[in-house]
Amino acid sequence: MKYAHHISELVGGTPLVQLTSVTADLTATILAKVEYMNPGGSVKDRIALKMVEAAEASGALRPGGTIVEPTSGNTGVGLALVAQRKGYRCVFVCPDKVSQDKRDVLRAYGAEVVVTPTAVPPDHPDSYYSVSDRLVLEIEGAWKPNQYANPNGPASHYESTGPEIWADTDGLVTHLVAGVGTGGTITGTGRFLKDASADRESGPVVVIGADPAGSVYSGGDGRPYLVEGVGEDFWPAAYDPTVPDEVIAVSDADSFAMTRRLAREEGLLVGGSCGMAVEATLRYARRLQDRDPEAAARAVIVVILPDSGRGYLSKIFNDSWMRSYGFLAADEGATVADVLK
Ligand code: PMP
Repeated sequence: MKYAHHISELVGGTPLVQLTSVTADLTATILAKVEYMNPGGSVKDRIALKMVEAAEASGALRPGGTIVEPTSGNTGVGLALVAQRKGYRCVFVCPDKVSQDKRDVLRAYGAEVVVTPTAVPPDHPDSYYSVSDRLVLEIEGAWKPNQYANPNGPASHYESTGPEIWADTDGLVTHLVAGVGTGGTITGTGRFLKDASADRESGPVVVIGADPAGSVYSGGDGRPYLVEGVGEDFWPAAYDPTVPDEVIAVSDADSFAMTRRLAREEGLLVGGSCGMAVEATLRYARRLQDRDPEAAARAVIVVILPDSGRGYLSKIFNDSWMRSYGFLAADEGATVADVLK
C-alpha cells in the first residue's frame, strides 16, 4: 500500500506545466511550477516544514509550544498543517489587506488570527511586525519562525524547489522567474539552480525577480500595492540581492489582468502574485526574442506560481472589486443576458 502517514509528508514534489496560450507569440519554452499542488495550497508549506523541524532540533520550539508569526496567510496554513501533527498552538498576525477568505482558512485549520492595520510603518506599535513581537514576549513557550530572517526559508527551497526544477527539466532550465516577498523562494531556488548549472557549457541559470511596482526590490519606496504576498517596504535577511540577475516591476493592473487570463486560458486558477510573475516572464521572454531570437528559441524558462486563486475570489476574480479600482473597464464582465437583451 502506498500512503502518507500525515498530510505534511506530501509537501513538495509539485509538477511543471507548459504555458501555451498566454505565451502564443513567444518561441521560448515557458513552464509553470504549480505550487498550489502542495497540501496547504501554496509554496509556503515548504518553508513551514523546514523551519519547524529546525526549531525542534535546536530546542527553540518545545512540546506544547506556540507558533507566533506575522503571515499574509500562506505561511500560516503551512505552519498550521505542521503544528497540528505535533500539537503546537498557532497564533497568526495578518495585515487587514489580507482577504477575509484567507483569514477564515487559517481559523479553519484551528489557528488564532490577530488582524492589524496595513497603513502603518513597520516600527509602529500596531504594525503586524510589532504586534507579533509583543505576542512572542507575552505568550509562554512562544516561538516565532520569522520567515523574513529565518535561513531555513531559503534553505528549504535550496533543498527542494531547486532540485525538483533541475531534475524535471533534465538540467536544461535556462531561466528562473519568481516573485519576491520574503525573498526566500528566489534566494534558495535561484542559488541552487545557479550552483547546479555553474559549469554548464551553455552558462548558468539566469534568475529574474518579479516585484510589485512600488516595492523596494525593484527600486520603489515601499508605496502600497494590492497584489498580496510579494513586495516589501524593507530588505529582509531571507533575501539575497546577489541571486537575481534582474528584478522586473509589474503594476497591480497588469498582474491582475494576467492572473485572470491564466484561469481563462490556461486552466490555472492562481493568485495575483502568479499573474505578476507570469507577466514578468512574458516581458523578459519578449525582450530576449527581440534581441537574440536563437537564444529565445532555446530558452527553458521556469516560473513559480506560489498559490491558488481560491483565496482571491472576492477580489481579483470579482468584477465589481476589479472595477472599483479601475482594473476592469465598465463594459467588461457582461452576462449572457446583458448581451442578448
Ligand atoms: N506569492 C504569495 C501569494 C506569497 O504568499 C508569497 C510569500 N510571501 C510569495 C509569493 C513570495 O515568496 P517569498 O516569500 O519566498 O519571496
